[in-house]
Order: sequence, then structure tokens, then C-alpha cells
Amino acid sequence: MAFVSLNPATGKKVKEFQTFSDAQIEQALALSIEAHKTLKSWSMEERAAAMHRVADILEYETQELAAIITLEMGKTLKSAIAEVEKCALGCRYYADNAAAIMADEPVEIGGSAKTYKTYLPLGPIVAVMPWNYPLWQVYRFVGPALMAGNTGLLKHASNVPQCGLSVEDVVRRAGFPEGALQNVFASIEQVGAMLRDDRVRGATLTGSERAGSSVASICGEVIKPTVLELGGSDAFIVMPSADLEKAVATAVTARTQNCGQSCIAGKRFIAHEDIYDEFRDKFKSAFESIRVGDPNNTETDLGPLVSQSSRNEIIGQVEKALSEGATRLTGAEPIDGPGFYYCPGILENIPKSSDTYYEEIFGPVAFLFKVSSMSEAIELANDSPFGLGSAVFTNDIHEQKMAIKNIEAGATFINAMTASHPALPFGGIKKSGYGRELAAEGLRAFCNIKTVSITS
Ligand code: NAP
Repeated sequence: MAFVSLNPATGKKVKEFQTFSDAQIEQALALSIEAHKTLKSWSMEERAAAMHRVADILEYETQELAAIITLEMGKTLKSAIAEVEKCALGCRYYADNAAAIMADEPVEIGGSAKTYKTYLPLGPIVAVMPWNYPLWQVYRFVGPALMAGNTGLLKHASNVPQCGLSVEDVVRRAGFPEGALQNVFASIEQVGAMLRDDRVRGATLTGSERAGSSVASICGEVIKPTVLELGGSDAFIVMPSADLEKAVATAVTARTQNCGQSCIAGKRFIAHEDIYDEFRDKFKSAFESIRVGDPNNTETDLGPLVSQSSRNEIIGQVEKALSEGATRLTGAEPIDGPGFYYCPGILENIPKSSDTYYEEIFGPVAFLFKVSSMSEAIELANDSPFGLGSAVFTNDIHEQKMAIKNIEAGATFINAMTASHPALPFGGIKKSGYGRELAAEGLRAFCNIKTVSITS
């Protein structure tokens, strides 16, 4: 297996990297242990200074790094720039807050002993990452991992090798110990071997259910902690009291951000019957004004999809839904010519009997549903194997409370689309995974939360 940079805008191969030999993997593991020993001995101030330097480099080299993202996975350059800026924000958040998150916490239990919790690093962590936010997904691991004193072995998606290399390079230049974050061009079998290696202390994976289940099974066998950030099919509910213009504009962004290739994209749009027709017409006309084209052009809204195989999968899902009774409101078809371009679209009337109804669609295709009450909207929202994010547009306080309490998801955003922020925990329930990234939870996920009791 090779790691290949292939430009989705042209379909042309740009660069190829060979998979590591087993000896190279062994070297990386040994170096990761050495780096951990050094990093563990660093003060929080030293770690914070290095993490701020990571952010400095990201900010200084935003254009170059964004160009690599666009080249390898096709998102628009302007969104790639925003991604790099967000990575810097995430690093600064952990540089500024990790000391407080990791500070000892006294616990009063009565008696004479002094009791408290202390947070200690675990050691090398394997991070298996996807291509869709090829820097953000990695930096949201790197920030908390290195600030906690852990080290990282990054197995990035095989289509974004230069993004993976760039992270290793930036972390090294920022002055972290050699090998604190290593990009490993590992095969799936080598990932399994690393997970089984006693020197590795945990794993985090962002990606598909299939990959998550495989990594978690191995870690289950050898008793290691895992965090899984998997797929989603987020509901986006619009009720009559909502600001409809805002709901439509946000719905379009929520579905088409990153060319629809976002785990927390709104995917199932559920509108109340009183505003359904108006919402549908506005949503349709907004979709029809989206400009698809060269991702390097500042006028472009959507670049190509990531790959031919990804586009084929979406084409297959849409065709299946249509053959099973769904109707096409607009778009949702491939665009002829070089590159993996796809016209964003909307499907209505997807029957529950269709497989597609329960699937995640990882491209710019919205499913639209009509309901007659908030209860029905919540029931439909929960009728999914996934539970990642959710968005609800309503100005009715009672409906807001109903949604927050009853939608089965890791996040509910009211009158806004689901988004991640370094200070907010991020993750899902059901088939969307478990554990949390970001915030204090993300840092403590790979800490030994040690109980200390001192009796004099
Ligand atoms: P994927 O195929 O699971 O790939 C993700 C990563 O897992 C890649 O590095 C991949 O390597 C690796 N991988 C694949 N099979 C593996 C296995 N058996 N053992 C170990 N590693 C394995 O996912 P994708 O289709 O590229 O990405 C899209 C999915 O990720 C969607 O479902 C999306 O919703 C989800 N996602 C979730 C979040 C979240 O935060 N919840 C964020 C972004 C994306 P190769 O590239 O070498 O195959």
C-alpha cells in the first residue's frame, strides 16, 4: 500500500510515498518512548511555550499549509486557510489552559489524610486520522496530547501524506522533543501491530465505523483506552417560530461545508409542515446558486469531492434512494469533466424502507423531511444509528428545552449549526463513537487520573 497525493480537482497523481518497513515502525516506537520520557520531565510552562510556537508557525505559514490541504483533498483554498487558523486557535487554547486542566484537585473526604486527584500522561498514543479536515483533526489531538505529556504516532489517511508530514515538521520545528509527534506511513496491519505493542498506551481514531470498530476491537483485546470519533447523520430541525432566512442560509452552509464531507454536517433537514414549502423553495434556490469549481478560485463555493471512489459511493446512494421512492428536488449528480466534481442537491420523500434513509451521506446531498410537531421532529432525528451533532431552529423556549433533553446526540445547537470549538467537548453517542475530544475532557481522555492519599 502506498500513500498517494492525488489532486481531486484534476484526478492527477502528484506524489507517492512508500509504506514504512517494520524496522521503521520499530524505530518510531522506540523514539516515541524516548520523546515521552523527555516531555514528561518538562514543566507545563515549557510545554506551553512549545505549543505557542506551533501556533506561531501555523499562523506564519498558513498559506503554504492551506495549499497542501487543497491540493490533497480538494477543499476550497479559503476554507483550507480557515482550517489552518483554527488549528492555531486549538493549539493556543491548550497552551493557555492545559496547566489548569491538569492541576491537582483536592478532594475532601473527612479524616486526616490529604486526598487529591492528579493527572499524569500515559505515553505514546496512536492517532488514526481521516482526510476531511486533514490538519484540524490532527491538531485537535496534538494540542491536548503533547500538553498532557503524551507522544503521538500519527497514521494519517493514505490520500493526505503531505498533510501528515507537515504536522510532524511543524511540531519538530516548534522545539518539542524529537519524535514527540511522528507521522508513520503504516499499513493497516502495522497499525494493528502498534496497537498491540505494550509501549503504546492508547488510541484515538476519527473515521468510519468499520475502522473504529477494528481499532477498538484490538485495543479491547489488549486493554487500552480508545476514543472514537465516527460518522454522523445530523438532524437539522426548522420550526415555525424560527427566523426562516437565517435557518435557510445556515442549513445551506451546514450541508455543504467542506463539500458536504463533514461528520457534523447537517444531513437530514426536518421542517415543520407550516413552513415546509417556504423552507423547501428557499433551500432549493440557495442550493442552485452554489458555485462549484476550481478550489483555488476565491469565487468558488465548492471544490471537487475527495476521490473518484467517494463520488461513486454518493452516486450509488442517491440512485438507490431514487429507485426506492425518493424524489430529486434539485442537483445531486456528478459533473462531467476532469476531477471529482459533484453538483450539490436535495432529495425529498426518502422512505424509511430505503437503506439510504439510515446511512450517512458524505457529500453535498441534503435529505428533506416534513413533520407536524416538535415531538415528531425529535422522533425522526433519533431514528438514526448515529448520534453526533444536531441543530434546531426555533424561538420557542419549550421546544428548545425538548430538543436539548431528548435529541440523542453529543451536541445540540439552537439557532446555529453544529460546530466544534477548542473549549467545548466534541464527540458522539450511538454509532458516532464514544469519548470526547477537545476541552478538558479531550486532554484527560489520555491521562492517568491518579488518586493520591497522604496520611502523615
Ligand atoms: P476511514 O476509511 O475510516 O479512514 C479514516 C482513517 O482510518 C484513515 O487513516 C484510514 O486509513 C484508517 N483506517 C481505515 N481502515 C482501518 C482499519 N481497519 N484499521 C485502522 N485504520 C483504518 O474513513 P473515511 O471514509 O476516509 O472518512 C470519513 C468518515 O470519517 C465519515 O464516516 C465521517 O463522518 C467520519 N469522520 C468523523 C469525524 C468525527 O469527529 N466524529 C470527523 C471527521 C470524519 P487509509 O486512508 O489508509 O484507509
